[in-house]
Amino acid sequence: LYPGRPADFVIRDYSRAVETTGGLPVLIPVPLATRTGLETLARLDGLLLTGGDDVHPRCYGEEPLPALGEVDYQRDLAEIALVRAALESGLPVLGICRGLQLINVACGGTLYQDIFTQRPDCQGHRQSAPRDTNTHKVQVLETSRLHDVLGQTLVWVNSRHHQAVRDPAPGLTPSARAGDGLIEALEKPDHPFLLAVQWHPEGTWSHDEYSLKLFQALTGAAKSYRTSRPAGGL
Ligand code: MN
Repeated sequence: LYPGRPADFVIRDYSRAVETTGGLPVLIPVPLATRTGLETLARLDGLLLTGGDDVHPRCYGEEPLPALGEVDYQRDLAEIALVRAALESGLPVLGICRGLQLINVACGGTLYQDIFTQRPDCQGHRQSAPRDTNTHKVQVLETSRLHDVLGQTLVWVNSRHHQAVRDPAPGLTPSARAGDGLIEALEKPDHPFLLAVQWHPEGTWSHDEYSLKLFQALTGAAKSYRTSRPAGGL
């Protein structure tokens, strides 16, 4: 937005989705100290990890390939710390696009830095169509939490990514795949609510009920967390 001046911002589609489904959206800026982020998180009832730049391959032990895009290593480190805290506390987490990739890395998984060079047989995942248009199908695992949320084994989604999950982290289950086999959703069965999707439901929730259901699931889980958590936050 402002060259040379890093900014913390949220695309309004996300905050409006949280608000519409009964939540109170709060932006966590990338902090100076990790502790600041964690103390902010301790006052909240859920964590939504949004889309954004590529995850720095350093986070999963790789050097950059030529097709790597923009990275923000400070944001990566801050979000990894937030995810690990949420894993410990049982705080509800929804990851979207980069958020899914970040969660996978935070849990010890790896990514394709660029699917179009590393998986040249893949289908179109970087649509030219607008964000509010669903362009490819995903197959949802019937025994998954994602299936519980959507009530469907097949949904159409939008797709604006060039990175993707390569090796899913231990403890994370792939719960949706595209027709080419790429992982489109992850979840953590032994966590109260950790769900992540590779698509962008924030771009479609106003007219697509399956996108809206994802935000409803997050804010519903956050309300339960608020009711059940011990006094004193995390
Ligand atoms: Mn896709």
